[in-house]
Amino acid sequence: MIISVGKIIAGAIDEASSDLRKLSLVIHDNPELALEEKAACQLLVDYLENSGFEVQRNVAGLSTAFVSTYVSSAGAHGLNIGFCSEYDALPGIGHGCGHNLIAISGVAMFLAITRVMDKCRIPGTVKLYGTPAEEAIGGKITMLDHGVFDGTDLLMMLHPTAGYSGAWHSQCCLSMKIEYFGKASHAAMAPWDGINAGTAANIAMLTMGALREQLKPDWRTHGIITNGGQAANVIPEYSCIEYTIRTSWASELDILRERTLRVFEAAALATGCTHKVTEEFAYLDNQDNPVLGQLYEEIMESEYHLPPERGVGGSTDFGNLSQKFISLHGMFDLAGTRVPNHTVEFTKEARSAEAHRRTTFAAKTAARVVARCLVDEGFWKQVKRAHEERQQNSGDHK
Ligand SMILES: [Zn+2]
Ligand SMILES: [Zn+2]
Repeated sequence: MIISVGKIIAGAIDEASSDLRKLSLVIHDNPELALEEKAACQLLVDYLENSGFEVQRNVAGLSTAFVSTYVSSAGAHGLNIGFCSEYDALPGIGHGCGHNLIAISGVAMFLAITRVMDKCRIPGTVKLYGTPAEEAIGGKITMLDHGVFDGTDLLMMLHPTAGYSGAWHSQCCLSMKIEYFGKASHAAMAPWDGINAGTAANIAMLTMGALREQLKPDWRTHGIITNGGQAANVIPEYSCIEYTIRTSWASELDILRERTLRVFEAAALATGCTHKVTEEFAYLDNQDNPVLGQLYEEIMESEYHLPPERGVGGSTDFGNLSQKFISLHGMFDLAGTRVPNHTVEFTKEARSAEAHRRTTFAAKTAARVVARCLVDEGFWKQVKRAHEERQQNSGDHK
């Protein structure tokens, strides 16, 4: 059974491969930032509609989000499987995270599993979620809050990086904007009349640096001053910094958040400024499923003859989905060149033929993992048990 299913999966993805390559290159060559991915969204929606699938647009109030839904010809009374596509780029370096490849990997897995359900007469529902703004505000979190993923039994997505893994425990991540409000004054004639918002930003940056001494090794804090004043001869009346904090577990993020907020408040107090903190949605850690992850890694290893690499660092809005749903965030090796994500070199590799070949292989691999869940009840039970265990243990990390 599993061998013929494997052939159906490979056939569906190979058949679509040249079309997927074209989609990937157009998205890559026209990088669009978070929430501005209009052309990429349109391209994917057109492709799905031309392939005969229904697509719902403007999902969760996001103009560049979509959901395509397929109901098996054998009926809907089976598993509800979801795949995620991302397609946002990074400022300055374009597709330096390879989201053009993530976009087509989602489509590839969707096509493969709809074909499997159809040919093998397996009941169920398959959805492809077009999830914008992963690099900025976390479109998946907004979609989750709007109930877009309700009823999902299993969610999958793939991401290119250096090395492959079925067990990426990503970091929780919270980004904040901190504004200081002071009083402008001539910096030479009457500096004593001013309240220096630029100094507040500096104190905040330095104190965050000092705080690092007492952070756990796997925690991260990093930030920039985006506005430190307008002119050297004016005491700045306004300053702004952007800061991100990361921890391995959600319970730790609350602790680090409290300490960080105290630092920002202290800088205001020290300078006499007032301040305002605007927090983004928190990205939670990715709760990998060891049963799904192991099968994914076994198939990947049979191709690459290299062990998996479970690196640390980095965050994804898929983490919030993984806290709720059984899921796999599979990592695959971009092109065998080991360039890191978020670099111009990664951008270049993300349009290579080798990256495309590896993307389609990873999609076939992940689709085979999904197919196993569909046809092997014992395996699916193990997957569910592993998810429950993970959920029970995730709160023990203070
Ligand atoms: Zn990224
Ligand atoms: Zn990414």
